[in-house]
Amino acid sequence: MENCLFCKIAEGSIPSNKVYEDDRFLVFHDIEPAAPTHVLIIPKKHIATMNDVEQEDAALLGDLHLVAKEAAKKLGVAESGYRLINNCGPDSGQAVYHIHYHLLGGTKLGALVQ
Ligand code: AMP
Repeated sequence: MENCLFCKIAEGSIPSNKVYEDDRFLVFHDIEPAAPTHVLIIPKKHIATMNDVEQEDAALLGDLHLVAKEAAKKLGVAESGYRLINNCGPDSGQAVYHIHYHLLGGTKLGALVQ
């Protein structure tokens, strides 16, 4: 998708600090971390928001949870705990309209983070 920041990061034309990559997913560090551990998990497929998820995306987004689990292990927060957050739409504060999940951890998280 043209002019999508995370599509550009996914294709490598904008750099990112990668934690994990395969043909369908990318995990990279958030540029403005809101917690000691803060990475973003994206499917490379452009889906703008949770509202745009279709039945055909079910397996992709299911597998994204396995990627999140492995990322949490790799980042050392699997046992201490972490939060996986998707922002959808204006009231959530979604800034980048390419579906993504924030994985936050490394500290006791407050009631509202990210
Ligand atoms: P959201 O508000 O859920 O759309 O979150 C977008 C996130 O993307 C924010 O936490 C930003 O800090 C993060 N972000 C924006 N640009 C970049 C970038 N170039 N590399 C890594 N993270 C970014």
